[in-house]
Amino acid sequence: MTTFMGCIADDFTGASDLAGLLARSGARVSLRIGVPDGPPKDTAAFEVIALKIRTEPVEDAVSQARAALAWLRAAGAQRFFWKYCSTFDSTAQGNIGPVSEALMNGLGVAQTIYCPAFPENGRSIFMGNLFVAEQPLSESPMKDHPLTPMRDSNLMRLLTPQVTKPVGLANRLTVARGHAALSDRLDALGREGVAHVVVDAVADGDLEIIAQACADMPLMTGGSAVAMPLPRIWSQAGVLPSKGLTQTRHSVGARAIVLSGSCSAMTNAQVAAFKDQGPALQLDPLALADGGMQGALDWLAAQDAGATPLIYATAAPNKVRAVQERLGVVVAGQLIEDTLAALAVAAHSAGVRRFVVAGGETSGAVTQALGVSQLDIGAEIAPGVPWCFAKKGDHDIALALKSGNFGAKSFFSDALAKREAA
Ligand code: ADP
Repeated sequence: MTTFMGCIADDFTGASDLAGLLARSGARVSLRIGVPDGPPKDTAAFEVIALKIRTEPVEDAVSQARAALAWLRAAGAQRFFWKYCSTFDSTAQGNIGPVSEALMNGLGVAQTIYCPAFPENGRSIFMGNLFVAEQPLSESPMKDHPLTPMRDSNLMRLLTPQVTKPVGLANRLTVARGHAALSDRLDALGREGVAHVVVDAVADGDLEIIAQACADMPLMTGGSAVAMPLPRIWSQAGVLPSKGLTQTRHSVGARAIVLSGSCSAMTNAQVAAFKDQGPALQLDPLALADGGMQGALDWLAAQDAGATPLIYATAAPNKVRAVQERLGVVVAGQLIEDTLAALAVAAHSAGVRRFVVAGGETSGAVTQALGVSQLDIGAEIAPGVPWCFAKKGDHDIALALKSGNFGAKSFFSDALAKREAA
């Protein structure tokens, strides 16, 4: 159907987080990995394009965002959302402001809002200052991020050097007075020429008010949480065709595999909780470097069709460091990613249709190897991790793509148990 809302996200996990929250409404949400080649087809009411532009040079980020905008407009989108991280990850040359201005120019709009708050995950904004749980952003672990160290908590100060037009604030006292008061404040700021408005939000109720006040804006920007109420608001207002809130049903074969290339603390716990429940193979990067991946492929081919194998490179930090010292960080990572990707392809050829994958980079490698470029978003397994569906030839496959610390200890069995969702 014709797209109503078009979203552009600056990385893959941000895109799937947004897609999952939009899909909570029951809407059909389609996630595209990169700007699709060719004109829009098989479009959903909600389209999310995952770019990889958080730390790209500004001109590249802007040109990719423009290409995404053009595709979404061709799909028919009337509302647009620019999604970045809830910790506003960017540098002074950062891409959040420049991409916003490029989208505003493209759409001919004079004002947008900035609301990265995500109260459910401990991100809140008060008087324009972003907090991570109870700490100001600049005192949180984000201050030491390797690529985007956040040394200031004030969103107006962070945004000002990134944009050409004035930056302002609609504070919590205004938001607390409701959506009409917030609309008035946005109009007043607009008359003063303020193009970029940071909006405070400390609780979910604030996001509801902000979404209400901004539902008619052609372009909103923020984290995923402020977008969550929009499908319902548009549906109630009658601007979203009722078909827009219908998800497609998928029928996916039962055979499953779990592939884990993440070494985060939570993934280590998840592997430990799952590895005795069925056949499990631990990949040894040093053995892979010496002997290649054939042994792992042979092990997979020998498994019983009724079982759900687990193949993991997941290891404790000291083991990972030892391997990295021997092989180098990049070589070790690539070996594992290539192996898990090849195993996914072999499993698919053998009839496996459900893939539970742990690791952000690992997920990228597996989806690419499986030739997946569009995902239909299904029910959430854990907050931020939905089952996703993709067409592969004449059948559907299901993917659960989990980055680092997401999910509970029982995530792998949780995913496999959600059969109605996949
Ligand atoms: P996360 O989402 O937890 O960051 P990623 O998949 O993004 O997980 O990144 C983990 C990286 O570590 C991948 O490049 C993966 O190939 C690599 N890796 C996994 N296991 C090992 C290991 N045992 N030794 C060294 N590198 C590993």
